Amino acid sequence: MAELLEMKEAIVSYLDRSGGLLQFVDDCKLYNDSAQSEAVYRFCIRVNPTDLIELDARLADCLLHDPFKATALFQSVCFLSIKTLSLIEKIHTENQVNVVLKLTHLPPFPEYFLDLCKFPRGYGPMRPVAMEGLTIAMTRITKYTQGARFLCTDDKCPFSRGFHHIRVHSPGATESVTVRGGFTCALCSAPLKEDVKFRVLGDKQLVEMVPAQALDVLSVHPPCSFRYQSVTLFLRDELCNSMRMGRLYRVVGIPAHVHQWPNITWSVEANTVEPWTPEYPSLVSSNFQALLAASACSTWRFSAILANTFGSPVIPPGLYSTLKLALLLSLVQTSEDDPDSLNYLDVFALTNDTLIIERG
Ligand SMILES: [Zn+2]
Repeated sequence: MAELLEMKEAIVSYLDRSGGLLQFVDDCKLYNDSAQSEAVYRFCIRVNPTDLIELDARLADCLLHDPFKATALFQSVCFLSIKTLSLIEKIHTENQVNVVLKLTHLPPFPEYFLDLCKFPRGYGPMRPVAMEGLTIAMTRITKYTQGARFLCTDDKCPFSRGFHHIRVHSPGATESVTVRGGFTCALCSAPLKEDVKFRVLGDKQLVEMVPAQALDVLSVHPPCSFRYQSVTLFLRDELCNSMRMGRLYRVVGIPAHVHQWPNITWSVEANTVEPWTPEYPSLVSSNFQALLAASACSTWRFSAILANTFGSPVIPPGLYSTLKLALLLSLVQTSEDDPDSLNYLDVFALTNDTLIIERG
């Protein structure tokens, strides 16, 4: 108990020093100025794990290895601050405070990095890890339930009023974990009913990311067959539209097993997303340099050899050479220095065998 109190004191001290408290007070003002009463009040708090380690190593360890417990501690501190400083008059219970901790980075040690090529991935406790990869697909933005208010159906129970049963989304939870029937009152065990007019909706976007090594087409790979498995990222609220197709990103996220009966899928709830440039860009192998030297007698010979063999595990050499050449040129063009340039080469292909083109 004393340890929890010390960690909460460390949170107050951290928020004060980092400027997080001022931001929090500003966020509260927005809610206080609004005439509308909410079931859930959401706050994003940026946390720098390195600064936190210097302040209280136990708290930093909790943040990195048991983020749900750390979030609960921050939630408690935020509620106390709201009440002590009278920041939001309309808030009644601690459950109504939904805190999302945004990690600025993770310590640069191997246990905090998830190699997307490694298998099995994601076994173990749910904790934040960093991963790097390329965006290959994304969905449109849809809605999800950020939070909901439930009331006890027994009129005599005190929990049939007020804001005692508040459910908020947590990483790895599906929609039916946050809102569905079948919940019972913690006080009298009577069934709960959702107060639908207080449901809070947020934005959600799904993104498929593959390991960045999938781009390494100019390296000489071992002759064994291999493939890259993509991973599904959940981007929520302020993270929606933070990723673009074909770009490389470093993502800090919490891997989770998502149960959607009868399947269990492994996906990642993104926490922070930032553009990433590989530290060591792909080097052209000595074999390719030798090939370039040997074919230097003709302007097109090197390009023709590359186009002929490009994508040979998918489309056999010799087929669709012009299309392959166009795709190669497109790859060269999209590796420009300017990250905002969108000068992709549009390719229009006509064929009677669309399957092989789609695979290419
Ligand atoms: Zn009840």
